[in-house]
Amino acid sequence: MKVQEINRQIREKSIENIINKRDRKKNKKPLQAYAASWANEDRLYDCVGYTIFIVLPTSGCEWATKSGGCTMCSYISDSPLMDISENDLVEIFNNEWNKQLDKVDISAYDNVAIKLFVSGSFLNVNEIPEKVQEYIFKEFNKYDQIKEVIVESKPEYIDESSLKRLASIIPNKIFEIGIGLETSNEDTRLNKINKGITNKSFEKAVSTINSVDEYDIRAKAYLLVKPILISEKQAIQEAIDSASYAKEVGVKRLAYCPATVHGGTMMDSLWKKGSYNPPWIWSTVEIIKEVRKNVDIPMIMDTAGFGTRRGPFNCKKCNAKLKSLIIKSNLEQEISEELENFTCECKEKWEADLEFSDILNTTTNPKN
Ligand code: SF4
Ligand SMILES: [Zn+2]
Repeated sequence: MKVQEINRQIREKSIENIINKRDRKKNKKPLQAYAASWANEDRLYDCVGYTIFIVLPTSGCEWATKSGGCTMCSYISDSPLMDISENDLVEIFNNEWNKQLDKVDISAYDNVAIKLFVSGSFLNVNEIPEKVQEYIFKEFNKYDQIKEVIVESKPEYIDESSLKRLASIIPNKIFEIGIGLETSNEDTRLNKINKGITNKSFEKAVSTINSVDEYDIRAKAYLLVKPILISEKQAIQEAIDSASYAKEVGVKRLAYCPATVHGGTMMDSLWKKGSYNPPWIWSTVEIIKEVRKNVDIPMIMDTAGFGTRRGPFNCKKCNAKLKSLIIKSNLEQEISEELENFTCECKEKWEADLEFSDILNTTTNPKN
């Protein structure tokens, strides 16, 4: 059976379980409880600044509900899986936005970025209607300190008129659209991640973004470190190759997401059967070194899940230290000497894993 079919079955089962579980609960979770927001120091294009993150609930990523979605993604289980009215969406946004504005005085910062996550595509009007998109952008435009507004979208929703319509509301800010490229290897993307994005559609979306001269609209690529069904060594190579490809195509910034195993996904199902392991943290260090050396666009390596049972791992002695060195590297956009020369006794195991996983063509680590 093809990966897409197995993935679809796993997703359908998972959605059914979520709905049944929710139906059994007496006290239904209010819509607002699906939203979240937080803020912290973060790397902007030109400097270290302050970033406000907002997660808005939607009816759910259409790609996941209709096709089974991506084999590592569990966002659908964080979605209310129901239609949400425009008024409700605006109210939910206002609550989260005001929460952040109450916490911090934006005017005290020179450089603020907003990262707006909708667990799907912000530019898909079935997920976020135009009116709501515009309302949110108008709120952001009230603050000159906000320099960057970042949303996410699949390529099929990226067209010139939507880009101009939204960019014209925030004319003096960088408007960035993050696209889940995941890898430059089309076979991996289509047949192992089930992303539904061809190289051609990605390239077209980036070229549309770069073709709008009158506003500062930029494309970011999200890259997945270690999809299912590829070896650790191949995963490192694909991650490195993907950076050069994205830059060549016209992407202005990269964000690597090393895999963490989320429940209800095909990745989870393989992991439980012993047929998948998340990447070593050493692999992410290798990627950082190569990409910082060879690809001169900003790049960050997400460290969420590092050192956890389901996330990227090394050993208990070095997980936390390496995580903090990688966060430092994200902020400074450099590799410190400490990170460059860092070593630990577990490094030899990683090297052996790389060699054997390649010889045996296995997606797990031989010690397992
Ligand atoms: S990664 Fe994005 S496109 Fe894929 S299923 Fe998740 S939300 Fe949808
Ligand atoms: Zn170690």
